[in-house]
Amino acid sequence: MSCVTLSDRRSAELFARAERLLPGGVNSPVRAMRAIGRDPIFVTAGAGAELTDVDGNAYVDYVCSWGPLIAGHAHPRVVEAVTAAAARGTSFGAPTAAEVEIAAAIADRVPGAEMVRMVNSGTEAAMSAIRLARAATGREKLLKFAGGYHGHVDGLLADAGSGLATAGIPASPGVPAAQAAATVIVPWNDRDAVAAALAEHEVAAILAEPYPANMGLVPPAGARGATGGPDGEPFLAFLREQAGRNGALLVFDEVISGFRVGRGGAQEREGVTPDLTVLGKVIGGGLPAAAYAGRTELMERVAPAGDVYQAGTLSGNPLATAAGLATLELLDGDAYARLELVARQLAEGLRSAAADAGVAVHVSHAPGLLTVFFHDGPVASYADARAADTDRFGAFCRAMLDRGVYLPAAQFEAWFPSLAHTDEQLDRTLAAAAEAFAEVAP
Ligand SMILES: *Cc1c(COP(=O)(O)O)cnc(C)c1O
Repeated sequence: MSCVTLSDRRSAELFARAERLLPGGVNSPVRAMRAIGRDPIFVTAGAGAELTDVDGNAYVDYVCSWGPLIAGHAHPRVVEAVTAAAARGTSFGAPTAAEVEIAAAIADRVPGAEMVRMVNSGTEAAMSAIRLARAATGREKLLKFAGGYHGHVDGLLADAGSGLATAGIPASPGVPAAQAAATVIVPWNDRDAVAAALAEHEVAAILAEPYPANMGLVPPAGARGATGGPDGEPFLAFLREQAGRNGALLVFDEVISGFRVGRGGAQEREGVTPDLTVLGKVIGGGLPAAAYAGRTELMERVAPAGDVYQAGTLSGNPLATAAGLATLELLDGDAYARLELVARQLAEGLRSAAADAGVAVHVSHAPGLLTVFFHDGPVASYADARAADTDRFGAFCRAMLDRGVYLPAAQFEAWFPSLAHTDEQLDRTLAAAAEAFAEVAP
């Protein structure tokens, strides 16, 4: 494998125009690649695990739309389902059979989901779930974890992961002070901090990504289904017990982990059932769909069954529902075994390639997810993640792009290997990584 200098003339031209028309030239911040010191690549097409850009370069893609494309780009079954749905009409604003089917498919898989409401984005699902939690408990405050990301909901932007972590934005301007003050933030995996916060504040909900992946993947202590987190008593079971004891709901944001780390998500792998679950990404199969779900008596508070208002013109949209159902149908036992194997092989290969080059890394992984932290030592919290060497990460990421491997261009994100990644592509990735680690070695 050798480093070819790829042409990026057309991407550069498009980006110059885009910067005049879109803030930062993009419609979502992490796409901009600022964190790794380069301009973004404009994509024309994807097939399986391969992306093609406007200059004709091809890449092995580990972003996969940041999670939705668990079956890869343009999977024939998904394309067929969406095409057939489009031909029957794109939206009705009236119930369809597919909405009943997708709700049943979610309830069948996710332990905490008895009743489901479909929405259009993970942000909307998280916002709606916390409204319901506040209504059900009669409390206003929320407990969230530093480095956790739950979409760009006003009250949840403080100390959030994902693009805010990458851009170093601790709290967004434009959020009312009262909204920010209603959010209590504690360090991930810190039992004492959780207990102290709950003693001081009556909270409506403990809101957590059970496998946080927006500060890079930082598994909960004592995880059974993910590696790279701290040892010790299981942190998720502790959260379950603390929520129950303090009259708070436990809300798991499984927008990334749902249907990815296992059929029933992280809650099933870890054997901890939340009161409410937030879902997104995979459930839309690459189209805009998300959901919140929970026990029947809680979900029956949502209008029109109950008085907690939430609505959406395109919610349960026929194309998104068709893509989501087609994607779920591909996710059988063999699929999860493959997602587990692929993540493990990449994690082990990357760890040993880094060691050979003398680069200190901490690699965490779960089925279909992994993060390489450029950090010497354990990563158990957002503070640990932030101690990573982001300059070296950026150089590594650019070196991988030069070798045709497209990684999330941010240290505080996870790689998303899919069912479409072939053994040959994995080998090529590890060969590129060996060279890239050598290039960035101290
Ligand atoms: C992506 C993400 C969201 C937000 O979903 P959008 O569809 O981007 O609004 C919420 N929570 C988690 C855990 C996510 O990873």
